[in-house]
Amino acid sequence: MKIRLASPITRDSIVDGPGLRAVIWAQGCFHHCPGCHNPCTHNPFGGFEMDTADVIEQIRSLRLQKGITLSGGEPFLQPLPLAEIARAARLRGLNVWSFTGYTFEQLTNKRDPQYADRMQLLELVDVLVDGKFVREKRDISLRFRGSSNQRIIDVRRSLALGAPCTIEEYMKKAM
Ligand code: SF4
Repeated sequence: MKIRLASPITRDSIVDGPGLRAVIWAQGCFHHCPGCHNPCTHNPFGGFEMDTADVIEQIRSLRLQKGITLSGGEPFLQPLPLAEIARAARLRGLNVWSFTGYTFEQLTNKRDPQYADRMQLLELVDVLVDGKFVREKRDISLRFRGSSNQRIIDVRRSLALGAPCTIEEYMKKAM
């Protein structure tokens, strides 16, 4: 399967979730948040294409990383190749975080034509940082978030309950 990426995988990130993390930068985003820090990731035809097998090979060679983080760009524009990558990461014992400009409620809207594909990825994500970046709500004191409307969501618990649950408790344990 092919995936379009904005940049090579970043290793040893400490700002995209707890612990050392490898970050996968998905190319393409239609949210157009004013003040976005990564406008070069918006064009869905920009960046470069890679085989998911090659990305997975890189993930298999990771050492000391606690997890992977899907960022971009909008990861949920390419849910199927990223699901393949997330599945491989989980098999390696890595946890999976994902940023998205969609809200949890939008991603789990069964009437959306993309619902089934997006769920394939969402079910493999441990923690979702959701929502657009809102410049008026920018807050540099927040960890892992750019603006205060964004939430850090425990996906498994939220899917089980059918409502978004944030992970303040999880964060206390992980830090
Ligand atoms: S969702 Fe992220 S990448 Fe997309 S426009 Fe908003 S801040 Fe930029």
